[in-house]
Amino acid sequence: MPDLTASSLVERHQAGAALAGMLEGNGRFVAGEPRYQRDIAAAREAAPGQRPFAAVFTCIDSRVPPETVFDCDFGQILVVRTAGHVPDRAAIESLEFGAAELGASLVVVLGHERCGAVNAAVSAVKQGATDPGYLVQQLWQPASQALDETEEGEDVASHAMRLHVRRTVADLSRRESLGGVLVVGAAYDLDTGEVTLIEER
Ligand SMILES: [Zn+2]
Repeated sequence: MPDLTASSLVERHQAGAALAGMLEGNGRFVAGEPRYQRDIAAAREAAPGQRPFAAVFTCIDSRVPPETVFDCDFGQILVVRTAGHVPDRAAIESLEFGAAELGASLVVVLGHERCGAVNAAVSAVKQGATDPGYLVQQLWQPASQALDETEEGEDVASHAMRLHVRRTVADLSRRESLGGVLVVGAAYDLDTGEVTLIEER
């Protein structure tokens, strides 16, 4: 039975609008027509307080700056980053804080192509590494599954990244602490600048 209370409908409407706004921002970025300068005037205007409408959980990769990719201004999105967007406790509690205390109604889990952390995990699984570091351990399952599911010549890392994003979205969506928050997965293309949603399976 879907939750159709008034507050849940408002939450869903807010989250849907937030997602549409993010994708529109990405469209402006790709078109080379950004709306925001993110300059000192914008910083001053946002300084008194924050009410970000969305959170982005993504990789530390220097080629994936979320405020630019989604053409957002100061104060609009809260960004949590770890290598390979590995959702450790600090990352998850940061997202929970963004939702509960700052009012973000949307979490976008954003993976990207040619991710170094995901590549490292795929290599470690291929080599049967016996003592991988923490990050690779956290990426072992999607890397291993991607190796099983891809054919010769297919992009294993891209598939692993998508599996990892889907798993993170499913995990975050199950959390009571993020009840009422819309969690979606997406992938960033380094070459075109485009963000595309990753559908749940
Ligand atoms: Zn990465």
